[in-house]
This record gives sequence, C-alpha cells and structure tokens, in this order.
Amino acid sequence: MSKYIFVTGGVCSGLGKGIAGASIGMLLKAAGHKVVIQKLDPYLNVDPGTMNPYQHGEVFVTHDGAETDLDLGHYERFIDEEFTSLSSVSTGQIYKKVLEDEREGVFLGKTIQIIPHITNTIKSYIRNCAEKSKAGIMICEIGGTVGDIEAEPYLEAARQMHNEEGHHNVMFVHLVLLPYLKSSDELKTKPAQGSVRELRRIGINADVILCRYDEAIREEHLEKIALFCDVKREAVIPAPTVDSIYQVPVNFHSFNITKQISDHLRLDYKEPEIEEWRIFVKKVCNNLPSLKIALVGKYTELKDAYLSVVEAVKSAGYFNNVKTELIWIDSEKIEKGGDAEQDEMKKLKEATGIVVMGGFGKRGIEGKITVAKYARENNVPYLGICLGMQIAAIEFARNVLGLEKSDSTEFNAETPDPVIYLMPGQRNIYKKGGTMRLGDYECDLRKDSKSFLAYEEEKITERHRHRYEFNNDYKERFENAGMVVSGTNPDSGLCEILENINHPWFVGVQFHPEFKSRPLRPHPLFRDFIKSAREPR
Ligand code: GLN
Repeated sequence: MSKYIFVTGGVCSGLGKGIAGASIGMLLKAAGHKVVIQKLDPYLNVDPGTMNPYQHGEVFVTHDGAETDLDLGHYERFIDEEFTSLSSVSTGQIYKKVLEDEREGVFLGKTIQIIPHITNTIKSYIRNCAEKSKAGIMICEIGGTVGDIEAEPYLEAARQMHNEEGHHNVMFVHLVLLPYLKSSDELKTKPAQGSVRELRRIGINADVILCRYDEAIREEHLEKIALFCDVKREAVIPAPTVDSIYQVPVNFHSFNITKQISDHLRLDYKEPEIEEWRIFVKKVCNNLPSLKIALVGKYTELKDAYLSVVEAVKSAGYFNNVKTELIWIDSEKIEKGGDAEQDEMKKLKEATGIVVMGGFGKRGIEGKITVAKYARENNVPYLGICLGMQIAAIEFARNVLGLEKSDSTEFNAETPDPVIYLMPGQRNIYKKGGTMRLGDYECDLRKDSKSFLAYEEEKITERHRHRYEFNNDYKERFENAGMVVSGTNPDSGLCEILENINHPWFVGVQFHPEFKSRPLRPHPLFRDFIKSAREPR
C-alpha cells in the first residue's frame, strides 16, 4: 500500500512546486524509500505535445513515449528514476476518459458530474500510478494555484483521498510566497494565510508549509504563519530563493522535512544519504573557470523551452570542472542578414562549443545551417540534437557533397535532394497529437566512433520525438565524404547518429540525450562534448 503526499501551491504560480516535489522525492529516496511522483495538470489539452513552447516551455519525453510537462524533467533529474506516462495527467486526459466511458455506457444511464465522476477518475489515475510503480510513497503535484477554478476537482479528489486512505497515509505540503515590501522592508504573510484558508474551505489542512521568499525572513513571520494556518512551528519551512535549484533539497533537509514526513506518515525514519549531492552543490556554488557554450535555437528569449538541454550542458560542465556560460544564439537573426546576423555571429564566435537544439518548422532553419557550416569549417565542437542532426546533414549535403538544393521535406517538399524525409509509411498521418516517433528506441554504435568512446557500449537506448528521418539513399555518399552513420536502429536501419570524422568532435543525434542526463551523472555525449570544447585549440 502506498502513502501519498500532495504538493499544492498558493498565492501565485511559478514558485517552484515542481522543484519542491522533486526535492522531497529526492530526500525520501535517499532515505531508502521507493518513490513515484505524478504531475496533475489542470489544463484541457490531452498532453503538452501540441502546445507552443511559449505557452508551456519544454516538452519532456518519458522513456515510454509520453509527451509531458517539464516538471517531469525535474523529477527525473532530482530523484534519478525513469518515470512513465502514468506520472503525467491532465484534465484533458481525465475528461477524455470520462466521456469515452460515457459513450461506452459504462455509467449505466447516470448523469455524469464533476463529483463523483471526474473526481473518481482522478483518484483512479493517482492510485493506478502508485500501484503500477509499486512505490511506498507517491508524491502528487497539483498544477496551478489554489483558488483556480481548474484546480478544484484535483483538490477535491485529494480531500477525498485523505478521507478514504486515513490521516497517516496522506499528507499535504503547501508552497506559498511571502512577498517583500521594499518601502517598509518587510515580508507579508497575509497572502499565504489567505491561500491556506482557501485550502481549508475545500477541506484540506496543510501539514507542512513551505515559505518561498527573497529577503528578510524573521522568526516572527514563521510563528505567525504557524499560528494563523494551524500548523506546528517546525512545519513552517523557510524556502529562500537560491542560486542553484540543486540547493533546495539540502535546504529542506536542514529543516528536518524528511523526519516530519516520516512522523506524519508513520514510516521508519532513516537519515537520507545526501553526501554526494552536497559535494555536487558545493561545486555548483564554487568559482570554477568559465567555458562559453553556444545554444542555438529559435526560442532563445524563453530559456524554459530548452530546460533539459541547459541542465545537461551545465552538469556536463561541472563534471569537467568548468562553469558553462551559455550564449544564446537566435538562428532567425542569423538568417535575417545585415547587422542582426553580424551581431549574432560575433556572439557565436566567442563560444568554444556549439549545440544546435531540437525544433519544428521552417523558421530559423537557414540560420542554423550557417551555424553548422561555421562549426564544421572551424573545428568547433558541435552537438546537434534531433533537428540539430538534420541541420548538419543538410549543411553537409549542400556544401560538401555539392547538392545545393538539398533540404528536409519538412521545409521544402519539392527539394531534388531530400536528405531528411518522411518514411513512406509515415506520409498519411494528419493528426498532430502523439503521432511522432516517441520514446525509447535502440541504437547500435560503430565501435570506431566518438559516440562509442563516450558511451563505452555498443548498444544504447535513447528517447525520441520527431517525424523526419535521415534518408539512407544518401548514406554512402555521406560516408565517403567523411560524415558517417555511427549509430543505427537495429530494427529499422534508421540513422540515429551522424559524425564528421574529419573534425575534432562533431556529432549529430536523432534522439534527445538531454532527457537522460542527471546532475551527478551527466550524459556521456554532453560530457565528451564539453570535454572537447574545453581542450585548447
Ligand atoms: N522537426 C524535426 C522532425 O520532426 C525535428 C524534431 C525535433 O528536433 N524534436 O523530425
């Protein structure tokens, strides 16, 4: 039987509920528990796969191919487990299930209502995830803010679970903001009190209150919250804004959160083993020499769109004892020409390594091709991710093989040289949601490749999220000219990795290695990419 911890947020969004839930999960795992974590998202989309990155940030892909919220990335990086599609629930999925059941006659003619039908379905998704994962503790993060209309069915379901499972099997952790008023140099607790009151209106009593603040917290604030919100003083935990998100579990631990959870849920208490994590956090906060790495994309003003890539680059940096300084390159500016292009190229030239990131659609493509050409010709280490591999292929075809009009059929359906194309079986798919090559696929590595050197394994598995493929009709010509297919899917023969063998480190991958990178165990390709970028040239 599982115990449940619900994580909710109050006052405003963006306080870091995902990081809070992930940190609690990390500590509980370090204390010897099997943990699973689930995000309950209150929007009506079935998944974030079809949402614009401006709306939603990165789409994180699980190994079983679910397109999920970026919080799943935090969960996997902090807890160091691979979660499944069961960890990602949206209101869209819940309604879809209820309406499909209604059409099937499952409800035997009853009137379908939010309570009990929607709330029952929410509870069944929660319990199913706990059961399938066989976890002793399940953390459920309820998206949005307490008080949102959309979040109400989830909170009601959580209230019912407390009632059904019993007080010592369900715990509520509530994250609030204490706003700072500069003129009077003080923190305000009233909005936090208001959000706790809103929770109580629904029938939920917070057991732990995490207080996010920027400045000047004092004992009296914590006491006031304890008194007005009806929790023990020690259960009011200060959660300051920190330099690195990886400090959060260490901070929570210093306020005995794991012990408090163990006491509430009546678990045997064991001190979490977080020494390795502490050493990592120290390194992150230290003054390491800096290394400039260019990240090339088209949502460069929105860093969340590439969250896992950023984390993978940073942790590969720490592994190599450097602090990576990220230079964001907007590929649309490069293709614009003129001053915009010159400014952007000037920035690019400061970098000792270049990552061209994933993406969809024609915008910014020509700019990325210019970047790949620059990296190839100037021996700058290049890591192309998904679209970044396809770009490297197009650039190589155009400028080395002389196939000037070469392209991906995603950008030019009429190109005479479609080096990137849709496989015949894929061409009649018109639905947008969930129709890509998603999740884990195997890849066999060539033993004489940089990739093999990095992985030290011949067979690897990586996560995918794409429609288009490298066209093997061009493989021989590519290989004869020095761009080799160093990774291949054993079942389909599809190209997974392209490497330029006449370059110090030039690797393009059709998959997304960033999803499997961990703070303490950076992904081998990112690790070797940074190692190469660090070498003097
Ligand atoms: N647009 C490309 C495709 O669908 C690349 C996708 C990606 O970078 N995730 O194949």
